[in-house]
Amino acid sequence: MDTNLNNKVAVVTGAGGVICSEMAKSLAAMGVKTALVDINAEAVEKLAQEIEKEFKVTSIGVPASVLDKDSLLEAKKIINSKLGSIDYLINGAGGNSPLATSGVDQMVDADMENLDETFFGMKMEGFDKVFDLNFKGTILPTMVFSMDMIEKKEGSIVNVSSMNSYRPLTRIAAYSAAKAAVNNFTQWLSVHFSKMGVRVNAIAPGFLLTNQNRFLLTDEETGEPTARGVKIINNTPMERYGTPQELQGTLLYLLSDWSAFVTGVVIPVDGGFSAYSGV
Ligand code: NAD
Repeated sequence: MDTNLNNKVAVVTGAGGVICSEMAKSLAAMGVKTALVDINAEAVEKLAQEIEKEFKVTSIGVPASVLDKDSLLEAKKIINSKLGSIDYLINGAGGNSPLATSGVDQMVDADMENLDETFFGMKMEGFDKVFDLNFKGTILPTMVFSMDMIEKKEGSIVNVSSMNSYRPLTRIAAYSAAKAAVNNFTQWLSVHFSKMGVRVNAIAPGFLLTNQNRFLLTDEETGEPTARGVKIINNTPMERYGTPQELQGTLLYLLSDWSAFVTGVVIPVDGGFSAYSGV
């Protein structure tokens, strides 16, 4: 069965980052033309050049913010003129803020002396930032980039959620809640678009060891896992971290015609983390 990916046009937000740069490469490897949208203009410009060189498929870096509708509309104009009508959207821009992260996993009596490390020390500014980037940052690009798909009654949207969307992880209250909102919105929009030929799904990556979180999960000096790293591995039945490359199969499946009757699902790619009760 043909996947129908070849020669399609995909917009990837957050393409300057660890996960979505790999996603963009896997799309290019399948002959998909990519528009790499990120606030980090330098990163996406460099990536576009790398992709064109390695895969011989058109790729463009398009600086824009997922929180700024005007910049997204401007980006769409550029994408349409350089690559044509949009077929796929990957909503990858996202992340956490230390302002909405507690210092302790669970509050105990002794924390009454240092409330800053608990829920009471969290800043609303942090909640706003995290909800804006992950939740509104999924909605706004979808509003702008899905119109081409709606007009031609064909297309696929993949949102990037997280393991913390099913059950919150300790400390990262806002990030967990914002990704739960992404799952909920994925289902809502899948129903809303279901008669317009546009499918909406999400991927929930489990724990990946990336440059951004390496310092949290492994001890810089010894290379041994930190206490949080040990907990993660103990609760991942496959007993290892995933890699950004291991998200690619699920992404290509959700975009391609192989999943033509699949909409409104959030697929965990997590080495079994979400299936394991810990016992
Ligand atoms: P990353 O920080 O490497 O990449 C995020 C990218 O988003 C960066 O290039 C950044 O410049 C861009 N960005 C930030 N604000 C933006 C804005 N307003 N407009 C446009 N671009 C913006 O992060 P990552 O680890 O590659 O994560 C990518 C996605 O995967 C995120 O949605 C994240 O929540 C999710 N995720 C990551 C992990 C993980 O272990 N790294 C696990 C589960 C889910």
